[in-house]
Amino acid sequence: MAYETLKEEVINYGKQIGIDKIGFASVDEFTELKSRLKLQQESGFKSGFEKGTIEERTEPTRLMPEAQSIIAIALAYPTKLKDAPKSVKGDRRGNFCRASWGKDYHHLLRDKLEKLGEFIKHKVNGFTYKPMVDTGELSDRAVAERAGIGFSGKNCAIITPEFGSYVYLGEMITNIPFPPDSPVDDGCGECTKCIDSCPTGALVEGGRLNAQKCIAFLTQTKGFLPDEYREKIGNQLYGFDTCQVVCPKNKGKDFHHHPEMEPEPELVKPRLVPLLSMSNREFKEKFGDMAGSWRGKKPIQRNAIIGLAHYKEVSAIGELVRVMNEDPRPVIRGTAAWAIGKISTKDGFEEIKKAMVKESDPEVLVEMEKGLAFQSIHV
Ligand code: SF4
Repeated sequence: MAYETLKEEVINYGKQIGIDKIGFASVDEFTELKSRLKLQQESGFKSGFEKGTIEERTEPTRLMPEAQSIIAIALAYPTKLKDAPKSVKGDRRGNFCRASWGKDYHHLLRDKLEKLGEFIKHKVNGFTYKPMVDTGELSDRAVAERAGIGFSGKNCAIITPEFGSYVYLGEMITNIPFPPDSPVDDGCGECTKCIDSCPTGALVEGGRLNAQKCIAFLTQTKGFLPDEYREKIGNQLYGFDTCQVVCPKNKGKDFHHHPEMEPEPELVKPRLVPLLSMSNREFKEKFGDMAGSWRGKKPIQRNAIIGLAHYKEVSAIGELVRVMNEDPRPVIRGTAAWAIGKISTKDGFEEIKKAMVKESDPEVLVEMEKGLAFQSIHV
């Protein structure tokens, strides 16, 4: 079998089904990644969302013993929102990051990989493959880098020459020895814009990320947000784009190749107050198709409360008081109490004092104390 010819056919078929870029990589051990992952683990920089052991994440043949190559794919996503609704006083809005716009990309990329797999199956007897998108053991970025999709930026994203870093990545391990591609010969050079603009200092030298400090990660946690990050998160409901937005390699990049990725303005910049009373069913119906809903409504609601505090949105006090008194989830009650204090109205402080009498959860009581502490700043 002429694998070079088959490779060309796969690339051409990929284009036909809307894959923006395809690259081929060997299944050699990812040795550099292995050392980085060990360092991440030792430094306590892991997000906790990682799948598999370090060995499984860096040795493709552990995942598929017959593995001979990896096909990496990239789909470019849009970055500009037409008719973006304004967040104004009395009607504040939150923000979903660009990677969460449109329909959940995991499904879209999986669908493309399946189609590609079926195509090769028809050409090669005994073809086997293992597709992965984001949540698999392999590092999409390490594979994409090796397969020549793009270079790894200091912002920890893969930066393609064609689409910048605004690409979704996926891959499939295959049992065919496709000839590998060469990595992209480019890099960040002396630029440090992403590192300089990261509000929490999450980007460590040499393209390493402390996930525990990364706002994109913090928006997805379910507990109380540590105090030091509450100012920094602003009105962000899910994910964070600053390290991509400031990147000069992303200048002017805005691709609308895939109708499924088109953002719905009311979904990607939703009103904050209505989010607080949303039932599970409403949340699922409205946001369930978006990648940003994968952790459920609680982190989004917690972030919405922090967003209202960030804006010091006095008109939201009534709803925040209701949430502080009625919501069954301590994280939501406590964050609401803190937010009421942060907004700092006389009535708000009185409401916190009243709620404290009835509150029994120690963590919520701590947040109430924090809320009341804003009084001393505002007397
Ligand atoms: Fe690299 Fe500069 Fe882009 Fe950061 S902002 S990824 S340093 S080019």
